[in-house]
Amino acid sequence: MNVLVLGAGQLARMMALAGAPLDLNVTAFDVTSGNMIHPVTQTILGKRLESGIEHADVITAEFEHISPDVLALCEASGKFFPGENAILIGGDRRKEKNLLDNAGVKNARYHIINTSEDLDTAIKKLGFPMILKCALNGYDGKGQWRLKHQEDVTSTWHEINTFFQRSPRREHQCIIAEEFISFDREVSLIGARNAKGKLEIYPLTENIHHEGILSLSICATENEALQNQAEMMFKAIAEDLNYVGILAIEFFEVNGVLMVNEIAPRVHNSGHWTQQGAEVCQFENHLRAICDLPLGSAKQIRPSAMINMVGNVKISEDIMRLAHVHWYNKSPRPNRKIGHINVCEKTKEQLIETLEAIIPLLDKEQFPVLHEIKIREHLTSGKKNERP
Ligand code: ATP
Ligand code: MG
Repeated sequence: MNVLVLGAGQLARMMALAGAPLDLNVTAFDVTSGNMIHPVTQTILGKRLESGIEHADVITAEFEHISPDVLALCEASGKFFPGENAILIGGDRRKEKNLLDNAGVKNARYHIINTSEDLDTAIKKLGFPMILKCALNGYDGKGQWRLKHQEDVTSTWHEINTFFQRSPRREHQCIIAEEFISFDREVSLIGARNAKGKLEIYPLTENIHHEGILSLSICATENEALQNQAEMMFKAIAEDLNYVGILAIEFFEVNGVLMVNEIAPRVHNSGHWTQQGAEVCQFENHLRAICDLPLGSAKQIRPSAMINMVGNVKISEDIMRLAHVHWYNKSPRPNRKIGHINVCEKTKEQLIETLEAIIPLLDKEQFPVLHEIKIREHLTSGKKNERP
């Protein structure tokens, strides 16, 4: 079967690698250059999206910021999963908030802002501090502002307007003001749903960010009550969307209660540990779901963690002896994800020991979160994430 992925980054690459044993032939459409490419070798395969669509049996996407024209073209082919609607929702926080409200899942209170008067209303409604997020094109914490005091309102509003002037599709942009959630932890749930409505859901993963970018994901502690809450919300959202493929949901945990931060209608960075830590990884399960093959088990086989490599990172052989290294064939740039490390062990204690052995081998400036976090304490005392 031929699968076309919109987007030609690491997620398309990992789908291609996971699809090969199933004879699923993955090609990618690089939305920036307009080239069809091989997602592993980056070889250019041609220019025409239309012929790519024609040759594909199934079409999917690795990210949500894709032009509406391309999405419409793919939707018209009848081969696109999870489809235009899900991708448009994932790429527009207004639509996303609507979905969460309609599905009846808890999420941060918000107000939509188009004018400076709307901002005044948002302040009255939500109070300080609040987070202002642009509706379109947000990722890795970009296009977000923290508003803490009344005296910062004018300068922040000015910053937002300057940002919008440089923003593509600026006529469609707006701001979503959100109440600031003083969360204990951030967690995510990733699961696959097929066209018959069958689900395979992975265990909740804890996520720790640095400056808006995911640094560390850990899947090593079971919490049945939280898992049940997350799965209920997952089902409500996936059913509402009649979703097919892998869906990721990011949550804030506040006093044992989950509230949805955002969804990602695709395979997700916090699910990379499944490559070595689950029966069937998220990339294979996404392909299975969209190609209408039986879903694989999402059962976790061992405690696991994933460390993102961001910027110009080098990895020693000592780390390769202890962990699974995944490079993305990308040249390093500041804040660019160029690979990840999966650490998986038989027991939680062994996972802690291996992480404790790996952390000193990683550069302090490149991996600040790992050097700050006391991994043993974090994983044994149920200690909450204290980072702001
Ligand atoms: P991603 O890379 O996950 O797509 P993003 O840029 O789309 O990120 P969010 O996930 O909405 O943006 O926000 C980035 C981070 O900012 C969150 O992981 C969380 O740490 C923090 N954050 C977002 N919204 C809130 C909120 N309402 N209250 C407190 N912190 C928040
Ligand atoms: Mg996020």
